[in-house]
Amino acid sequence: MPDYRQMWIDLGMDVEKHDLLCEALPEAFGEIYLSQEHRPEGMNFFYYVVSEIHGVRPAELIEHQKQGGKVFGTFCVYVPDEVIFAAGAIATGLCGGSQFWVPGGEKVLPSNTCPLIKASVGARLDRTCPFFRIADMFIGETTCDGKKKAWEILNQDVPVYVMDLPQMKRAKDVAAWEDEIRLLIAKVEEFTGNKVTPELLGDAIRLINRKREALARLYRTRQNSPVPISGKDALLVSQIAFYDDPARDADMVNKLCDELEQRIAGGEGVFPANAPRIMITGSPMAIPNWKLHHIVETSGAPVVVEESCTGVRYFEHLVDESQTALDGQIRALAERYMQINCACFTPNPGRIEDILRLVKEYKVDGVIDYSLQFCNLYTTESYLVQQALKEAGIPVLHLETDYSEQDFEQLRTRVGAFLEILGK
Ligand code: SF4
Ligand code: SF4
Repeated sequence: MPDYRQMWIDLGMDVEKHDLLCEALPEAFGEIYLSQEHRPEGMNFFYYVVSEIHGVRPAELIEHQKQGGKVFGTFCVYVPDEVIFAAGAIATGLCGGSQFWVPGGEKVLPSNTCPLIKASVGARLDRTCPFFRIADMFIGETTCDGKKKAWEILNQDVPVYVMDLPQMKRAKDVAAWEDEIRLLIAKVEEFTGNKVTPELLGDAIRLINRKREALARLYRTRQNSPVPISGKDALLVSQIAFYDDPARDADMVNKLCDELEQRIAGGEGVFPANAPRIMITGSPMAIPNWKLHHIVETSGAPVVVEESCTGVRYFEHLVDESQTALDGQIRALAERYMQINCACFTPNPGRIEDILRLVKEYKVDGVIDYSLQFCNLYTTESYLVQQALKEAGIPVLHLETDYSEQDFEQLRTRVGAFLEILGK
């Protein structure tokens, strides 16, 4: 493994503190990932990316900056990466998924803020994540209250541009999002000095669509029984898609799918065909948050689909590629992104329709409705989600947790009891 220490020093990181994270991650990763049996060969690329998580991709981003390019950090699946790539810049997901960063966030945020926000702020302010150091500009959005206020705090340390996401889905809201995308284009053009032309935007739309198609193909393999890949592995692929090079990522996901489709043809799986099939719905799981998947799968049940932003919400629906003029392309982007069903919208019946549809498509036996602690949106919407699932006769378990290990055994007990109810 190359020595990235000088790179981290040059980024102004707190390398001693960062060493503690580097020591803890391989052990956790080995225990959670490498202990799995019958792992697909195609996962080795993704394991490698994690093993070098603060090295390889950050070095590529820095190289891009040396060539005069910019890097934008994003926190939400509504922010259109296409605009950023069309301007010759790189977009990278920045959501924090580790407890390691939470105390740093708590220095400036109320403790009853969701761990994803605390970890994201902590990773920047404590200077312990290269991605948070490299990004020239952060792009926030007006989704939940915690994030809205966090942008103001982060903006004292790094430029943060905020997109105003509408919270309803009327025609005027789609038009408003279209306007926001226009403003983003203007901002990105000003910041990079590059023009977003219809040709470049068309290329970027195809690039990101290709990644979405690869992820959709991966998820389709999980509709089979026995399931050819664990939920933990699929989650990891999804998490890496947020920050890897999109073209390479699509290639590697497709390569993995070739292998999984062979497994399906041969009737091979990673769990017995009669194991209860679980869907997880709710708050996103930013890398390295693998806690709930690990508990469920080591209790004997595969997670076969995630209705979340680190799941189907990230890749379902393609942007219309037939538009060749900027206006039509921006409209197509707005229409695609406004089809995502986040709990920040009211009303949000589309999410419940998605959950019920996914139950059928993935032959789900039980749903775990997951909220990050203090995530008001998903915890509150949980009432409607549980109601709809109960009416449809689908067993559901609501769990609220954070990034710490404190409730690990308690969660395992509750998951175990739920799996027994599923009675397979
Ligand atoms: S849950 Fe909502 S706010 Fe969070 S990343 Fe997804 S769309 Fe954005
Ligand atoms: S998990 Fe919930 S509270 Fe946290 S950033 Fe996402 S929407 Fe906001």
